[in-house]
Amino acid sequence: MTKALFVVSECAPLVKTGGLADVAGALPLALAAHDVQVRVLLPGYRNVMKQIGKTKPVATFDDLFGGAAKLLACTVAGLDLLILDAPHLYDRDGSIYGDATGADWPDNAERFAALCKTAAAIAVDGVDGWTPDIVHGHDWQAGLTPEYMIDAGAKAPFVFTIHNIAFHGNVGADKLGALGLDPARFTSDHFEFWGQISALKAGLAGATKINTVSQTYAEELLTPEFGIGMDGILRARQSDVSGIVNGIDLAAWDPATDPNIKPYQTPAGKTANKKALRKTFGLGASNGPLCVLVSRLTEQKGIDLLLDALPALLARGGQLALLGSGDPRLEVALLEAADRHENLSVKIGYDEALSHQMMAGGDVILVPSRFEPCGLTQLYGLRYGTLPLVALTGGLADTVINASPAALARRVATGIQFFPITAQALENAFVRLTDLFSDKKTWKAMQSNAMKQPVGWETSAVRYKDIYDSVLGTGQ
Ligand code: ADP
Repeated sequence: MTKALFVVSECAPLVKTGGLADVAGALPLALAAHDVQVRVLLPGYRNVMKQIGKTKPVATFDDLFGGAAKLLACTVAGLDLLILDAPHLYDRDGSIYGDATGADWPDNAERFAALCKTAAAIAVDGVDGWTPDIVHGHDWQAGLTPEYMIDAGAKAPFVFTIHNIAFHGNVGADKLGALGLDPARFTSDHFEFWGQISALKAGLAGATKINTVSQTYAEELLTPEFGIGMDGILRARQSDVSGIVNGIDLAAWDPATDPNIKPYQTPAGKTANKKALRKTFGLGASNGPLCVLVSRLTEQKGIDLLLDALPALLARGGQLALLGSGDPRLEVALLEAADRHENLSVKIGYDEALSHQMMAGGDVILVPSRFEPCGLTQLYGLRYGTLPLVALTGGLADTVINASPAALARRVATGIQFFPITAQALENAFVRLTDLFSDKKTWKAMQSNAMKQPVGWETSAVRYKDIYDSVLGTGQ
């Protein structure tokens, strides 16, 4: 039995802003099948504390970055959780990363340093009679963990997974003292990044092994364009860097049993869901494909490209139902476009149940991201027979088989990819899409292919186990 401590800032079903939470909620369960026992260390945000029910106090800290804190053990949805209850850091309104206006919390460095420091303490002393063999951090919020592990004398290896390298968790060097970091290690070999403290870099420099969430993104990260300043350190550590594609929770995302939809097992079952979805979004009937998009609305997600290319889809009878929230300028631009186009309907917000209905009712899931470490919605789309139309980047490149003439001839295509990632190429892809959609036989064959793709965690969980074995020296 291998014991792994996940250090992570969000975890489904308790708290989620994006794919990181899905991974933190699903990978531990997949690893359990491979003799790995995972405990997930998670901040006790206000909304988490409300949901966890019965807990067992397993440690206390008199002063954790400005206040007392407790560590609470509990089980939720089959996950073994260690909740860091530190009200001075986590008990607030707003989102988990910022206030109601969208601005980052000014003490985010301390908030997540507290998580890392707690992980280091658990690595040394254990908790509740349990000491991890491995500490596994996710994204910059866990990045300072190896620094605190060194200070605390922890010997366990640290595995670091990059879910999105765009977020660095940088703060000014004046926080060195407040964060209790060793000034001697404030160098470019460790956690100094252009004069600042970088939590992400600390994680990259201190990790025994680094991985990211798709093979293509792992390769992209080695380039200046995608590495966003971290490509140098990643190139230097290339032999320790790998890519493991994310899976999805096959129980939560199963069209045959999904309680949010009219369940189905074949593409034909989508018809009733499509009708319901059109009604929900106030869209009329149309012969073209009903596209859906569920996303954070940010520059990364290519929403501006979509707005430019959209007329090409709508002119060919296509429709778009979009659910998302994020950048207020993008929200306004989308709502304005929806006013102009009757076949575009936009809902601003975050709605888990509706996102399931969109996967069930849509013909096509759009993911026009400028970069995408893995992406999950295209995987949901595959499982629901909702064919992905995606940019050729990161995990989108690895999980969708483009309907090229060769792939169509071999009957292996599952979607459409476009490249370069421009509005013009997306427009061209919309033309390809509408042509393909009108070829009902081919479309149906692609849907059946898509629904058979292995999009669960099975293969990837084994690869994580291989990493654990290799850092522990217990592999074959
Ligand atoms: P990222 O992590 O960059 O946001 P991913 O595709 O990896 O992108 O994961 C996004 C996750 O968040 C998916 O599970 C997606 O369904 C969900 N999601 C994003 N926006 C919304 C929304 N507005 N409503 C419901 N679910 C959403």
